[in-house]
Amino acid sequence: MSNPSLLILPGDGIGQEVMAEVRKIIDWFGEKRDLTFDVSEDLVGGAAYDAHGTPLHDDTMAKAQEVDAVLLGAVGGPKYDDLDFAVKPERGLLRLRKEMDLFSNLRPAQCFDALADFSSLKKDLVAGLDIMIVRELTSGSYFGEPRGIFMEEGQRVGINTQRYTEAEIDRVARSAFELARRRNNKVCSMEKANVMESGILWRDVVTEVHAADYADVELSHMYADAGAMQLVRAPKQFDVILTDNLFGDLLSDTAAMLTGSLGMLPSASLGAPMENGRPKAMYEPVHGSAPDIMGQDKANPSACVLSFAMALRYSFDQGAEADRLEAAVEAVLASGVRTGDLMQADGGKPVGCAAMGDAIIAALEASL
Ligand code: NAD
Repeated sequence: MSNPSLLILPGDGIGQEVMAEVRKIIDWFGEKRDLTFDVSEDLVGGAAYDAHGTPLHDDTMAKAQEVDAVLLGAVGGPKYDDLDFAVKPERGLLRLRKEMDLFSNLRPAQCFDALADFSSLKKDLVAGLDIMIVRELTSGSYFGEPRGIFMEEGQRVGINTQRYTEAEIDRVARSAFELARRRNNKVCSMEKANVMESGILWRDVVTEVHAADYADVELSHMYADAGAMQLVRAPKQFDVILTDNLFGDLLSDTAAMLTGSLGMLPSASLGAPMENGRPKAMYEPVHGSAPDIMGQDKANPSACVLSFAMALRYSFDQGAEADRLEAAVEAVLASGVRTGDLMQADGGKPVGCAAMGDAIIAALEASL
């Protein structure tokens, strides 16, 4: 059988620095765990614009469609701020998400014990927190028609439309239930069925999918505003939260910040299963290209490393190796080794990006 394939797109700014650390970790898995990937690397964002005049070359897009998973660093930077909208670095990322039809966005909010002090909530509310937000990513208010700014009776009217088809709700609900089965078997679906028809349909379809195929998973429903309150009141009550594009945007950022730093947050975006049964998938840290620290060996590579751990779990069925990698990151943090973004005011001397990568590899070695 051929090796699983991985397309690496480091992108811009610290994307390149954090990805260099992930490549070391990928090599480690090849050497020490007999887990070898066919890795190819290409350009995206500003780096692709500099080389090809477009933020994503058609050949790169075609490659992304063929591989088992894409791992992306970050795109953008001040150098590209004045480019036309159509060739801005972010367009490369959006094209990947759109053409791969990555409708299910997974944003974990996991609080490593060593970082519980970084949360804006009390330590006991977040220590050990491990929840997953599944956000519908390709439909809803950000895409629905009609949209625009129109003149109506002598004044401007801004319009966006919340629109969901049954099929769109069905497929993202299935992805949340499947995910829950690999975790603690609980899904809480959030919408505004009290005031929105799209919310009523959302609740109905989620309930139907559950009854038909996932009755073993515990399902509850919550209005999204109440869900937001519960998320900061008692976040540990949740396992998987399933929600639409707009509410998911807000809820996933809220949940993420319960856990501390942007430098720790991974994400996955999944699409329909391919012929080999694996979902189309792209993994990426939540953070951007951090131009303020690029090229200074200051970036925290953990978010990108943890994104690779998600790829191990969700694209390559290597849950035990994903656990090993997450435990290695946790062990490094617990040992007090930190990048600058994770230092308290009196916290001593931070390590650089490369040293953090090396420390994670040392912790992987220690796990054998
Ligand atoms: P950012 O995430 O790049 O940075 C925000 C702050 O967090 C900065 O102070 C940065 O130094 C810090 N930070 C981020 N990641 C870090 C890490 N791994 N380690 C240590 N510190 C880290 O967001 P921004 O400054 O708003 O945007 C910068 C550029 O990135 C912009 O061009 C923006 O469009 C782009 N961006 C890209 C993505 C993406 O590629 N998915 C996401 C967000 C922003």
